[in-house]
Parts: sequence; structure tokens; C-alpha cells
Amino acid sequence: MAAAKNKSALSENESPSTPKSIGQKSAARIKALRKKKLDTNQLLQDILNGNKTALSRGITLVESKNVKHNQNVNILIEGCLPHANQSVRIGITGVPGVGKSTFIEAFGNYLINEHGKKVAVLAVDPTSSVSHGSILGDKTRMEELVKQENAFIRPTASGDSLGGVAQKTRESIILCEAAGFDTILIETVGVGQSETMVHSMTDFFLLLKLAGAGDELQGIKRGIMEMADAIVINKADGDNKRPAERAKSEFRKALHLYPIKSNDWKPKVMLSSALHQKGISRIWEMIETYVTSTQENKYFFHNRKEQNKFWLLQTINEQLKSNFYNQPEIKIALQQQLLAIENNETTPFEAANYLLKKAKEL
Ligand code: GDP
Repeated sequence: MAAAKNKSALSENESPSTPKSIGQKSAARIKALRKKKLDTNQLLQDILNGNKTALSRGITLVESKNVKHNQNVNILIEGCLPHANQSVRIGITGVPGVGKSTFIEAFGNYLINEHGKKVAVLAVDPTSSVSHGSILGDKTRMEELVKQENAFIRPTASGDSLGGVAQKTRESIILCEAAGFDTILIETVGVGQSETMVHSMTDFFLLLKLAGAGDELQGIKRGIMEMADAIVINKADGDNKRPAERAKSEFRKALHLYPIKSNDWKPKVMLSSALHQKGISRIWEMIETYVTSTQENKYFFHNRKEQNKFWLLQTINEQLKSNFYNQPEIKIALQQQLLAIENNETTPFEAANYLLKKAKEL
């Protein structure tokens, strides 16, 4: 005990001052940095080899809030980018209970079993940053799919902002594609801004609906209908089959009133019973038709380029925001300004100008 105490006391006394220990320290730091780089390169290789455990670890790294991981994430993304882009990205939305998980389970299994596809499922969930949990992309709700060798299911990234979560999801798409997944399903819940985010990172946007529930009830805004490349009325089975057929013709009529899309694609309305795996193959045929026709008229590639431009701006916005809010001085000053607003001592604009000026000076 005494010897150990002595030893630690000695090293404590020695370390800050002796040149030798400073040299040793920086050598150790360089070694640790090299190791980190080596580990990340190994991880990258494993991802490129299609190793799902490595893919999971890679996504965890992408989702990390630790700024120390930024360099590793950059190595991963840069290494994956040349192998990305070779997939069809499909966004799937709809209110809770409409059958998204059941649909993805049926659709994913169909694509793997009948078409030899490799399917990755990711999720953008605006509520997860509040609930700190995943309500989507839930593995337990996709029992068969999760067992498939050619499926990868990743529950929702959580984050401070939807923009942040969406950015991580986008980077995760790149990793999944580099790992050889050729069909990426991105699930989101039909509320708030999340659809717009998912729409901006997918090639095809599918809206799941139920028959017999008014739009207000389903919480679907007009804008989401406009974004949809297809509306699929799910649960078209049993007593619900007739109402589903009626809803189909109503939606068809409604869609006629919408402006024609710039890609010349007329959104389709289809029926499915995810529970009984009905309508699934026709939905895939429709998506294939969409992909072929938009690749022929070049919209597919144009759209991806536009999305990349959008994401460049989005990334800058997110980066600026997080740099600003994460500065300790700003954190303190922000609290002071919030208090000053509460006490009517300043205006929001004055406070904002003060904080932005302060950040510039730091
Ligand atoms: P999510 O919240 O949108 O992911 O919905 P889920 O996939 O969890 O489904 C909600 C409920 O609807 C579950 O009890 C499913 O079994 C049921 N369900 C999903 N698809 C269908 C369908 O096509 N037909 C019927 N009858 N029930 C379905």
C-alpha cells in the first residue's frame, strides 16, 4: 500500500515539470491518435466488407455527440462515399398505428426473399429527442425481418434537434449503402417536420393511410399528400376491404387536383394488407417503374444532386448552431439574457445581437 502511494506521489510530482514526461506524454498521444486512425480504418474496411456489427458500430460513431469522434466520423464518411449512392431510398410515413412496422416487415421480407435485395431500415423520429427512446424502427415489431441475414434494422437516432437527427440519418444511409445495402427504407411518423426531412433524403416517398379516417383524424397535412409519390391504403382486409376500395377512388380523384410534379410522375393510389402480405409485390413493381422512368428522364439524378445541395446548407446550419450553443461562455450569457428578457430589461433582438457579437469575439 505504502509503496503504491509513494509511487503515485512520485509520478504526480514528476509529470507536469520534467521534459522527459512531457515528451512521453505527447508520444503517447500520437500513439493513441494513430491507433484511433487505425481502428477507424479497420472499421471502414469491415463496413465495406458488409459486416453488420461494424455497420452498427459505425452508425453509433456517427450518432456520437462527442466532438472527439468528429475526425473518425469524417474518415468513415469519406471512405464510404465512393461506395454509396447505389441504392433506392424509400421514405415511408403515416400516423402511428397505420401499420408502418408491419408494412416494412412484409415489404422487406418480400424484397429479400423474392428479389435478393439487401434491405436497411432506418428511422427519423421527431419525438425521440423528447422521449429518449425509439418508437420507430423497432426491432421487436419486425420479428422475421430482423432474423434475415440481408436485413439491417437500426432504431431511431436521438438528438437535440430534428435537423441533427436527420443529418445523422443521412450519414447512416451512406454507411448502409457502402456496406452493400441496395434498398434503404426510412420510416418516419406522420407528424411535424419529419416528413419534409425524410422527403429530402429519399428517392420515393410513400404515404400509408387508413380508410374511413378523415384527414384531420389522421393528422395528415396537405403538404404531405403533395410530397407523396404513392398513397397506400393499408389494412385493406376483412370488413375494411370495401371502405379501402372506396377510399382509393376518392384519393385518386383528390390527387387529380394537385399540380403535376416536375418529374412527370403521377402519384399512384394502391391498397395493401401488410398483415396478410397482400399488395406488396404490386407496390414494388410501381416503385421499380418509378425508378426506371425517373432514371430515364434524368430526374432521379437531378433530385439527388438537389438533395445534396440542400444537405450542404443544412449541415452548415447545424454546425454553426451547435458551435454557437456549445460554447461555455455562450451558455452562461444565454441564461443571463433569458433572465433579462423575463425581467423586461432587454428585447429579444437586442439580446440576440449581444450574444452573436459575443460569440464572434470569443
Ligand atoms: P405503426 O405504428 O404505423 O408502425 O403500426 P404497426 O405496424 O405497429 O401496426 C399497428 C397495428 O395494426 C398492429 O396491431 C398491426 O398488427 C395492425 N396492422 C398492421 N397492418 C395491418 C393490416 O394490413 N391489416 C390489419 N387488419 N391490421 C394491420
